[in-house]
Amino acid sequence: MSKTVPFNKAKIEEILATYPTPFHIYDEAAMIANAKQLQAAFSWNEGFKEFFAVKAAPNPYLIKVLSEVGFGCDCSSHPELLLSESAGVVGENIMFTSNNTAAYEYQKARELGAVINLDDISHIAYLEEHAGLPDLLSFRYNPGNLKEGNEIIGNPEEAKYGFTEAQLFEGYAILKQKGFQRFGIHTMVASNELNNDYFIETAEIMFNLIVKLHTQLGIRFEFVNLGGGIGIPYKPDQKPVDITYISNGIKKKYDEIIVAQGLAPLKIFLESGRYITGPYGYLVTKVQHFKQTYRDYVGVDASMSNLMRPGMYGAYHHITVLGKEFAPKLHTYDVTGSLCENNDKFAIHRELPKIEIGDLLVIHDAGAHGHAMGFNYNGKLRSAELLLRTDGSVVQIRRAETVEDYFATLDFSGLTSFK
Ligand SMILES: *Cc1c(COP(=O)(O)O)cnc(C)c1O
Repeated sequence: MSKTVPFNKAKIEEILATYPTPFHIYDEAAMIANAKQLQAAFSWNEGFKEFFAVKAAPNPYLIKVLSEVGFGCDCSSHPELLLSESAGVVGENIMFTSNNTAAYEYQKARELGAVINLDDISHIAYLEEHAGLPDLLSFRYNPGNLKEGNEIIGNPEEAKYGFTEAQLFEGYAILKQKGFQRFGIHTMVASNELNNDYFIETAEIMFNLIVKLHTQLGIRFEFVNLGGGIGIPYKPDQKPVDITYISNGIKKKYDEIIVAQGLAPLKIFLESGRYITGPYGYLVTKVQHFKQTYRDYVGVDASMSNLMRPGMYGAYHHITVLGKEFAPKLHTYDVTGSLCENNDKFAIHRELPKIEIGDLLVIHDAGAHGHAMGFNYNGKLRSAELLLRTDGSVVQIRRAETVEDYFATLDFSGLTSFK
């Protein structure tokens, strides 16, 4: 599939009059269309809900856009809970899936009425002591060697997350004994997974587990949260997941297992991040230098502080040169940022059209785990976030950082008396 951008060079030049590069820009219309498609695919399941993984793109404006389609928020920390609250997403529209969680974070989650998903059996008592028990609890299942992970999330057996199967039985028995009537269950074993069948298999494992828990403990589950991890095609030759195929496959297992055992209705929840915003965010950056040594380097005004996936994972991110979308790719470049780190490269040995200083480069699929992973190493400042609205207008949803932001935690006045 060829990768396209939802704007042309003239549009970006118009934006540049107000907002200098580098910036992230999100395509609202495409994001909403995709969100609606996900909901339509799972409309067979009454109560289906996607809880957008806030960590992927922690911006309250994006949360608001998604909440209007009916999405909730999956939060993992106190600040993410605050962001969700600021966008009007509260109560059981929040799933709080965290690990190694501090008491104050549980307290905030309880205050907001969030659905709490515990990562460990010892946290039943910890939650009770520090924040009180809600009437609904969910546990995160770690299937161990039952399921293979992948390189981003790792192998479940080596992963720090979740309960073992034996701990699930013990944990739900504790809840039952405490008089709980509302139960949920969760797992998250994939990251950036493009294999459709993987998600159907995960659902099957969870449905069978629910039957076992019901048989042994006599409890009924209100929901199963199948986690996030739906992949996106970063490379032009990769195929996107087929969400309808996944949903139909899950429905088949649901009918065979959950319905057949009399355990319907069971709400299906997802907490995807990447799939929801990833393809709809772009990092726009300008070429500021060209350098020829042992290789040809294109130096841009963004760096890995704006998008660290290529440096961190060696991840491929497609690049479009604006105004040269159809030019032949006859040149091979490394596209670099300005950090004193040799992995500060957006592309290595990439075939691109001939690039000149001043060209505008669009780095694709920067909408999830992009700006969010930004950092200030080397004194680099994080870029602005813009939203391309459905009506074609552009609004700034986060300004760029300034040096004042960078120095905000330093008190220089102490230096005069400091010896
Ligand atoms: C990171 C994470 C997600 C979202 O992952 P994506 O790959 O962005 O879909 C969801 N749930 C949990 C618990 C996570 O850690």
